[in-house]
Amino acid sequence: METKIITIDSNHIDNNQLMSAVQILHNGGLVAFPTETVYGLGADGLNPEASKKIYSAKGRPSDNPLIIHIADFEALDKLTKDCSTYGRKLAEAFWPGPLTLILNKSELVPFSTTGGLDTVAVRMPSHPIAFELIRKSGIYIAAPSANVSGRPSPTKAEHVIEDMNGVIDMIIDGGKVDIGLESTIVDVTGDIPIILRPGFITIDMLEQVVGHVEYDKAILSKEKNPDIKPKAPGMKYKHYAPKGELTIYEGNSDSVIHAIKNAATRKLSEGYKVGIIATDETIEFYPKDIVKTIGTRKDEVTIARGLFEILRDFDTDGAEYIFTESFDNNQLGQAIMNRLLKAAGYHIEKV
Ligand code: AMP
Ligand code: MG
Repeated sequence: METKIITIDSNHIDNNQLMSAVQILHNGGLVAFPTETVYGLGADGLNPEASKKIYSAKGRPSDNPLIIHIADFEALDKLTKDCSTYGRKLAEAFWPGPLTLILNKSELVPFSTTGGLDTVAVRMPSHPIAFELIRKSGIYIAAPSANVSGRPSPTKAEHVIEDMNGVIDMIIDGGKVDIGLESTIVDVTGDIPIILRPGFITIDMLEQVVGHVEYDKAILSKEKNPDIKPKAPGMKYKHYAPKGELTIYEGNSDSVIHAIKNAATRKLSEGYKVGIIATDETIEFYPKDIVKTIGTRKDEVTIARGLFEILRDFDTDGAEYIFTESFDNNQLGQAIMNRLLKAAGYHIEKV
């Protein structure tokens, strides 16, 4: 298949370009597009044939449900039922934005989109291209991240091209995304909101709107624990993994730098290609030719934005072993560490 790649400026959306994407969605095809979190791989969420194509393009297990993207609150009422009062409050507070809500699904939503579940994941994105694509098409767009299953999520069109060129109908290049980590997922079907996946919207931000919020216990563990099953089916899979073997070093800064340098020297002497993930604050302490900075510790937003890109960049370099510093494990840092731990297959060295 030939993949059409088009560029759209999110500040001045070209209507003709956008309508060519709309056409593809109407015909049951696949369009990758930018959102404020990561690039999504979109199809008509109410068309089982179309969402099947998403699973095969990504190589995604069929029990891993899709998030449906909407552009107005009417859609929320159509796709879901029995929305809790606090669920509505969260939607009103954070939409459009990087928050996904799990709700009971209506008859309208096919089980092929929800992986057989009676619940559905819904989000209203704020990125102008995503928002306009949904609005103009009138389609409820099912869209997981536009990467091959298990690979780091795409934060720019080049990443989508790497994974999806020749496999999907269209890729909309809208530049680099803003946040760089997937949405926060909150289950709002019970008495208390439960975070199933940490993201840019932190527990503190949620609690300011609705009071007490809990975490799905399975996502807090720093160890892989086969006994606790995460409530979001996708969270049980190995994910975000670079091709090289990634190890996280945790401890005080000096010890971490020392340990990473030792590990890197050892692997280099054995003849392997090595990469080091540092920060603006620590990059100077590592050998220049193998280190990259992910962002600054003074602003975790930069680290979130850099995470998936740096993993893909080390793939391009052919790094066989990658060593990374670790990050604070609260607020946004929690989402960063959640992704990093999965990318490392929970391989963490305490020093
Ligand atoms: P992705 O779109 O690739 O970022 O993945 C979507 C995430 O949402 C996966 O981890 C899914 O397991 C999760 N998800 C989607 N629908 C549901 C649902 N109905 N209940 C729980 N988790 C869901
Ligand atoms: Mg994904």
